[in-house]
Amino acid sequence: MSLITDQLAQRIASAKAFIFDMDGTIALGNAASGGHEALPGAIELLDAIRRLGKPFRVFTNGTGKPPAIYAAGLRQAGFDIADDEFMTPSTAAAIWFEQQGIGKVRVLGRDGVAAPLRERGIECVEPAAEASGVEAVYTGWFREFTFPDLEAACKSIWDGAILTSASHVPFFATADGRAIGASFALNVMIQSLTDTELTVLGKPSVTAFNSALAGMGLSPADSRDVVIVGDDPVLEIGMAKATGAFGVGMTTGLMKRDTIDQLPPEQRPELLIDDLATLHAVIS
Ligand SMILES: [Mg+2]
Repeated sequence: MSLITDQLAQRIASAKAFIFDMDGTIALGNAASGGHEALPGAIELLDAIRRLGKPFRVFTNGTGKPPAIYAAGLRQAGFDIADDEFMTPSTAAAIWFEQQGIGKVRVLGRDGVAAPLRERGIECVEPAAEASGVEAVYTGWFREFTFPDLEAACKSIWDGAILTSASHVPFFATADGRAIGASFALNVMIQSLTDTELTVLGKPSVTAFNSALAGMGLSPADSRDVVIVGDDPVLEIGMAKATGAFGVGMTTGLMKRDTIDQLPPEQRPELLIDDLATLHAVIS
C-alpha cells in the first residue's frame, strides 16, 4: 500500500481537484498558541496544486469558528489559502439549504456554526428564541447549550422542521485525549425525543462532498477525478468510498500503518502515505 504504482500515480496526476482535511493532514493544532503549524510538505503541495491551476479545498469538520477565521489561522502558519478555499460543514450546509429552498434555520451553535449560513442569506434563529416557520434545526459545535435550547429545537421539529447536523461523530482526538462531539450529543437527545431522521451535512456525507465540488465548479459526474486526502478513516476515506473519489490516507494523524489492514473495506484508503512530499512528487 505504501508503494505508488504507475496506475495510482496516473490517477492522482490527472485529478481535476483536491480536498484536504486540516487537522492531522496538512497541519497540527498547537495547544499553547491555539493556532496551527504546517505539517512537512503541506505548504509546498498546496502551492504546487495552485501552480497547476487546479482547484482545492481545505475542509475541516469543526464548526467552532467561521471558515474565514480558520483560513486566517492557516495563512498565519504560512499557507497561501483564500477564505473561500476553506470549508467547514456549515459551508456545505449553507449550499445545501439554499439548494433545498430552506431559508429559516434554528442554529444550535455560535458564530462558527451560523456565519456561513448568514452569508448566504439564510435566516438564523437563535437557539432558544421563540419562532414559527422554522424549516430546519441545524446542530454544530455548541458546548454551551441549555435545556431551553433543547426544548426549542424539539418544538421546531414537532412543528415540521427537519433535523440536520454539521457532524455526527461521538468522539474526536485532541492533544489531551478523547473529546465528545457536541453536536453528536445534541443529535442523540433531539432524535430520541422527537423520533426524527437526521441529515448529516458535514463529512463524510455525500452532501458535503457535492458542496465542495460545486464550490470548485465541478459536478458529481467529476467525482472519480477528485482526490481526498485525510487522516480519518471514517470522515475522509469514508467520504471518498461513498462518492468514488480517490482516498489518500495520512499516517500523520489518526491512521497508522500497522493497523490499516484492520479497517473495514469502506474505510481503507487506496493509498497510505507518511508525508505530503510523496503526493507532491506524483503531481509535479
Ligand atoms: Mg483530521
